[in-house]
Amino acid sequence: MGNSFSVKPHKDKTTKKVTVVPPPKILGVGINGKVVECEHRATGEKYALKVLRDVPKARREIELHVAASGHAHIVAVLDVYENAYNDVQCLLVVMEKMEGGELFARIQERGGTAFTEREAAHIMRDICGAVAHLHSMNIAHRDIKPENLLYTEAGSRGQIKLTDFGFAKRTNESEPQGLATACFTPYYCAPEVLGSEKYDKSCDLWSIGVVMYILLCGYPPFFSAHGLPMSPGMKSRIKSGHYTFPSPEWDCVSQAAKDLITKLLKTDPAERYTIDQVMAHKWTQTLTRLPDTPLATAVNLEKTEWPEMQDEMEKTLASMRVDKEDIHIKSLAESKNRLLEKRKAAAKVDP
Ligand code: ADP
Repeated sequence: MGNSFSVKPHKDKTTKKVTVVPPPKILGVGINGKVVECEHRATGEKYALKVLRDVPKARREIELHVAASGHAHIVAVLDVYENAYNDVQCLLVVMEKMEGGELFARIQERGGTAFTEREAAHIMRDICGAVAHLHSMNIAHRDIKPENLLYTEAGSRGQIKLTDFGFAKRTNESEPQGLATACFTPYYCAPEVLGSEKYDKSCDLWSIGVVMYILLCGYPPFFSAHGLPMSPGMKSRIKSGHYTFPSPEWDCVSQAAKDLITKLLKTDPAERYTIDQVMAHKWTQTLTRLPDTPLATAVNLEKTEWPEMQDEMEKTLASMRVDKEDIHIKSLAESKNRLLEKRKAAAKVDP
C-alpha cells in the first residue's frame, strides 16, 4: 500500500507549524488516546492534535484519512509529525478543530426549536456525500456512528463532518488467499460470497440507515420504541431485520424516508442499497419538497439511553467487519486447545 502522506520531524522548528499550549486542553478521549488542542504558531489558529503509536495500523488510519481529506464533509488533516516519547515512536496528526460537538447532542441542545424532516434530509445529504466520496475512492469507513459525526462550530454555520478512520479499509486491495474461513462467523453473509469490496462498503450503508432512523425519531431502530435498550435480543433483531416505525412519531414522516430506511437496513448486504442508489433515491433528491412538520427527535433523544445504544452499535459494527488479515490458523505451537495441550504434555513424558 505504501504511505502516501508525508511525515515531518516534530522537533524541526522550520517545518513544525503547531504547538500545544500548556496545560493541554483535552478535546476528547478515544480508544487510542487523547485528542488535544494545539495552536498554529504563526496565526494562533486552533487545531486538534491526535497522537497515535507509530504502528502499521496507525499508518493505515492516517494514510486513508489523508487520502479522504479535502472533502467538505470529512474532517481535514493538515499535517502529520513524528516524535518519540519515552522511547515510544508516535505519529502526531494535526486536524481541523471541530467545535460544534456531536450530531445528536446538537439536535438535543436546540430545545424548543423544531427539527424537521427537511433538515434531517440536509444532514443526511452531507453525510452521504462524504460516504460517496470515500466509496468512489474505494475506501470503506466501517465505523460510521453518531460519535464520529462532528460539527465544525456551534450555530447555523456549523458543518457536519465525518472523522476517525481507525477502521477504514481500501476495498480494492486483494486480501491474503487460502486462509481458513471456518474459524470466524461473518455477519449475515460471508464476505467471499459478495466480494470484499461490496461487503466492506455495505457496512457503511447499514450505519447510514441507523443514523437516518435516529435522526427522524430520536431513538435507534433495534430498540424498544422509547429508547429502552433490549440488549439480549438486539442482535437477533438486527439479524432478522426486525424493526418498526412506531406511531405516533413516525406518522408524519414521509413514505419516501421509510422506503429509503428499509433499503438501508436490509439484513443481507447483497440486497442493501449502495451509496449511488441512496444518492439517486427520491428522498435524497427531493430535499426542498420534504415535509416541514416538526419531528419528535429532540424530545425522544432526551430519553434514549446513549451509552447502551453506543455500545450496541459498536458491537454490531465490529461483528460486521471481517478482516481476513486478522484471521489466521494457529500453528500447533501457539494453539491453546485443551486436548492438544494434553497430548503435548503426554508427548513430553513419553521417552
Ligand atoms: P479514537 O480513534 O481513539 O476513538 P477519535 O478520533 O474518535 O479517537 O477521537 C476521540 C474523541 O476526540 C472524539 O470522540 C471527539 O470527541 C474528539 N475529537 C476527535 N477529533 C476531533 C477534532 N478534529 N476536533 C475536536 N475534537 C475531536
